[in-house]
Amino acid sequence: MNVLSTCPLCSSSEITPFLKTSDFSITREEFEIFTCRQCTFKFTQPQPPPEKLGSYYNSEEYISHSDTEKGIIAKLYQYVRRITVKSKIRLLNRYSPKGKLLDFGAGTGFFVKNAMVNHWSAVGIEPEEKARIIAKEKNGVTIFKPDEMDTLEKEKFQVITLWHVLEHVVNLHETIEKFHNLLKPGGWLFIAVPNHLSWDSKVYERYWAAWDVPRHLWHFNPIAMRLLMAKHNFYIINKHPLWFDAFYVSMLSEKYKHGKTRLLSGALRGLISNLIAVANTNLCSSVVYVLKKG
Ligand SMILES: [Zn+2]
Repeated sequence: MNVLSTCPLCSSSEITPFLKTSDFSITREEFEIFTCRQCTFKFTQPQPPPEKLGSYYNSEEYISHSDTEKGIIAKLYQYVRRITVKSKIRLLNRYSPKGKLLDFGAGTGFFVKNAMVNHWSAVGIEPEEKARIIAKEKNGVTIFKPDEMDTLEKEKFQVITLWHVLEHVVNLHETIEKFHNLLKPGGWLFIAVPNHLSWDSKVYERYWAAWDVPRHLWHFNPIAMRLLMAKHNFYIINKHPLWFDAFYVSMLSEKYKHGKTRLLSGALRGLISNLIAVANTNLCSSVVYVLKKG
């Protein structure tokens, strides 16, 4: 296990424990969230070494990497995914002309496939072999391994997307730098991540499903995101809420907190979180950051 002694964003040594939580979905192991007093960035401690991280994903439960429809929350996830993919593509089209698109952390290729249908020339990158096979065979999309990223042509992509992926990325700075190299001048980066400033995060505390330790190594908020991306010459142009995430995360958090599915209770808290976020996007459960290459 790796323990960080300085902030991975701003290198400050003023880091302190913020919250104790557990891997509720797979191993039940305890982890801590640390916070940086200088820049507000939060991160998981200790962090499993990269070669061990894979073992924390080896579960049928980890639905974003499979196409399983078992269980009511998983069913709901699949249903909502079909609706949200359309709104994500509409969002890209609002900002960028169509062109080459790279989906980083493409999973089983669901987003790439839909982007292709909408006339984007889309490819994906995915570390997990099982997901890559489904992406190629079931969804018919081109998927590269992360180490093949360096073979892609520089300054060719119009858009790079990360849908709930950046919080999993081990080499944070190095990876963002690669995005900068791959994008065309004036290209766009769309990053969706959970937001721990949200009301649902405050209500569920250690049971908040979007801590998702140790798979989530980093925990973002709009201030830390702005600082991180500015270091790599990306600028936040806009922020958009992902409304369904508040419901999904709240329902999953209810399960972690009470040991059973409590859909109504989760839906109610998701709704309250969204009502609060209507007034302020900085407080929504998940944020899509729209960034431009500087
Ligand atoms: Zn910091």
